[in-house]
Amino acid sequence: MTQHYRITLLPGDGIGPEIMAVAVKVMQVVGQHLNLIFEFQEALIGGAAIDATGEPLPAKTLDLCKSSDAVLLAAIGGYKWDTLPRHLRPETGLLGLRAGLELFANLRPAKILPQLIDASSLKREVVEGVDIMVVRELTGGIYFGQPKGVFATETGEKRGVNTMAYTESEIDRIGRVAFETARKRRKQLCSVDKANVLEVSQLWRDRLTALASEYPDVELSHMYVDNAAMQLVRNPRQFDTIVTGNLFGDILSDEAAMLTGSIGMLPSASLGASGPGLFEPVHGSAPDIAGQDKANPLAQVLSAAMMLRYGLNQPEAADRIEQAVMKVLDEGKRTGDIMSDGMTLLGCQAMGEALVQALD
Ligand code: NAD
Repeated sequence: MTQHYRITLLPGDGIGPEIMAVAVKVMQVVGQHLNLIFEFQEALIGGAAIDATGEPLPAKTLDLCKSSDAVLLAAIGGYKWDTLPRHLRPETGLLGLRAGLELFANLRPAKILPQLIDASSLKREVVEGVDIMVVRELTGGIYFGQPKGVFATETGEKRGVNTMAYTESEIDRIGRVAFETARKRRKQLCSVDKANVLEVSQLWRDRLTALASEYPDVELSHMYVDNAAMQLVRNPRQFDTIVTGNLFGDILSDEAAMLTGSIGMLPSASLGASGPGLFEPVHGSAPDIAGQDKANPLAQVLSAAMMLRYGLNQPEAADRIEQAVMKVLDEGKRTGDIMSDGMTLLGCQAMGEALVQALD
């Protein structure tokens, strides 16, 4: 049966349009193989939107995104817009998009590819085989809790305050995304908190434990965040899926990602309760190499694979794309950022053509 999906493409700025073109080509090919029809609609965001409309997230863009099955973003930003007032900056457009789509769960995989193992700053025997997914709560916790601010005390001294707060329903909804994610992987979920010190973490731990009865096929464990930070560099292979709050997740997802050592290879997903998810590479718009056919399109292509797996529930299509990426790397094909001795240097477009060949 033919499946039909409407996908909003947000190429954005810098290398965005170059890497997006590769991801679109790859999806079209995999779609033909598996009877999936993708209807792509392109919209403006970031600097490109500022230049065309005067604002970083035009209402039309948000409407198109909301009406689609999934949103694939490349990257936003560049020197040209860095001096604009904050509400007109490209980043404001991205924050507005995340808020507008009510994306509360951020999924960041950190997978060591055997072909790129030497890009890691850790020893081969420590990182070999690492395949972790960090599920981070994105819209609650200490970044949003009230009260927040800098207040004068009775003595006139200033006091800065932020509040780490989670309601049961906020914990449950991120918990469910994490259990579902673990289910699509090796079925092990480690919840990271600081329940030995923080009451909010104790509630987090209690809710995760309660939810576990709904997912008897997933094995739940708990770990304190200080230990998790240590274990990630000591023995990262012990982790499958990690779920944690906004602050701990901010730090641990970067730590886990850097086990791989190569920013041009890292995809991410942000999901809401219903409605379309947002899928994007972790890297930025790389203005230093934009327009030179030097960008690595693989993080963008792997973001498309995440979109197929977690946004459109098409694991077979995701598998095929991920296998094509592995194949081109096995063939020794590399863009400049992941180049090493004895490998073949390709530009962004040529890497796209190699992926299409690998899919065939
Ligand atoms: P960056 O990720 O764009 O670049 C950092 C370095 O990595 C650069 O040397 C760049 O050439 C290289 N690089 C990044 N992606 C690459 C790829 N796919 N292939 C090859 N090399 C790649 O980060 P930055 O330089 O700090 O920021 C540049 C702009 O991107 C800024 O305007 C920033 O605000 C924006 N930014 C956007 C996002 C996003 O869209 N989500 C994220 C981070 C930064």
